Amino acid sequence: MQPVKQQLKLSILNSLIESFYHIQNNMKFDLLMRQKLKMKEKKIVIVGAGIVGVTLAWYFATYSDAEVTLLDQKQAGSGVSQHSFAWLNVSYGRPDAYQKLRSKSLNEWRRLDAEMHGALKIHWRGAISWQETNAETLQFIQSHSELSFNIESLTKENLAKKEPLLDKAPNIVAFAGEEGAIDPIWVIQTLLQDAIKKGVSYCQETKVSKILQNESGQTIGVRTQDKDYFADKVVLTAGVVNKDLLQTINIELPLASLPAIIIRFKHEKSDQFAQHIISTPEMEIRSIDSEHFLAAEDYIDDTAVNTPELIALNALKTIQAHFNAIAPTLASSITVDHVAVGMRPIPFDDMPIVGTMNDDSGLYLISMHAAVTLAPLISCLAMQEILYEQESPELFSYRITRFQ
Ligand SMILES: Cc1cc2nc3c(=O)[nH]c(=O)nc-3n(C[C@H](O)[C@H](O)[C@H](O)COP(=O)(O)OP(=O)(O)OC[C@H]3O[C@@H](n4cnc5c(N)ncnc54)[C@H](O)[C@@H]3O)c2cc1C
Repeated sequence: MQPVKQQLKLSILNSLIESFYHIQNNMKFDLLMRQKLKMKEKKIVIVGAGIVGVTLAWYFATYSDAEVTLLDQKQAGSGVSQHSFAWLNVSYGRPDAYQKLRSKSLNEWRRLDAEMHGALKIHWRGAISWQETNAETLQFIQSHSELSFNIESLTKENLAKKEPLLDKAPNIVAFAGEEGAIDPIWVIQTLLQDAIKKGVSYCQETKVSKILQNESGQTIGVRTQDKDYFADKVVLTAGVVNKDLLQTINIELPLASLPAIIIRFKHEKSDQFAQHIISTPEMEIRSIDSEHFLAAEDYIDDTAVNTPELIALNALKTIQAHFNAIAPTLASSITVDHVAVGMRPIPFDDMPIVGTMNDDSGLYLISMHAAVTLAPLISCLAMQEILYEQESPELFSYRITRFQ
């Protein structure tokens, strides 16, 4: 390793350790050296190259000398991440300790993007939202503000400045200026290429069929169609498939696979349309460029009246109605461009499940919803837990043991 790179790694590690474990100054250097040594011994296999697996691989590649192999049954990003609305959000979640975790993850996205010199192209435009009633919107603003998340109430005039084409908004509207959105495929590819450059071994079209354990029930690797991969730690980041993989060692993961619909719309060129994330009881939209925007919709059921295509057409009418009065030509130019359904991995209580599996020190699991929002913070914390074999207090509430 080049001396400058080594120095940079050491200084980043220093600040990470300081912030997460509050280590006394005089102990820091010694501990750091021991940790560096320990890192060299680690062999990590990450199963699943979605937003979580790729981000985790990037953290290992950037901050450690661990030997990392990232496996995907297809290609990176081919799971639910490609269908994500990808709103980096705090306000959508419930206002409690979990909100703080999401809020910290937004900061971690900023830090990560700075480290990538802006290559992730995160759109930090903020989110406009409202609830069914003005009273509920006020309550929403208040409850998030009490937890120090920056949400303000917008006047009609301020809303018109931010979204000049939007009609049909209530008197009270919330604005979360610190929120943003990513293009998940772009981010996955960008982080993956950087991780590969830094030494991660990436194997696509490599499906894991089984977790391998020794006689004492400790995980020692995984089986794929080509060969077995052995590791000090296997990390499962296979989205909804985490459940099936754990079944191969008789663990029942409290995880549901719930569908949601993502729709891409096309419209005549405009730089003024949906410049912020707009989330209301009737629609959730955001622009991806001057001629396209995304909408996320609930999946209702598999009956003929609720096909994703019909839901997309209903969404189209709703969206047009919000812009028709001010921008009729643009509203009538909107057409459905693409519709897809993504299967979201959602733990039974909606909270992330992160950490070593029971007494099996060879196996680490990350299963979570809103994983686009949470990926960098959880990856950073998970990397530290795995490398330093020290539990992060921030993850205490998110262990699988809470279900027992
Ligand atoms: C319509 C919609 C809107 C959403 N909006 C948001 C949002 O605004 N904000 C937000 O934060 N989240 C949102 N989500 C949720 C978010 O997309 C997911 O939480 C996230 O993408 C999950 O990422 P993941 O890496 O865990 O899973 P995945 O992206 O599914 O990645 C898992 C990977 O594992 C691979 N894999 C599976 N099985 C195996 C195997 N046996 N061997 C090897 N590899 C395997 C797959 O090929 C895949 O690449 C949304 C989801 C949907 C569908």
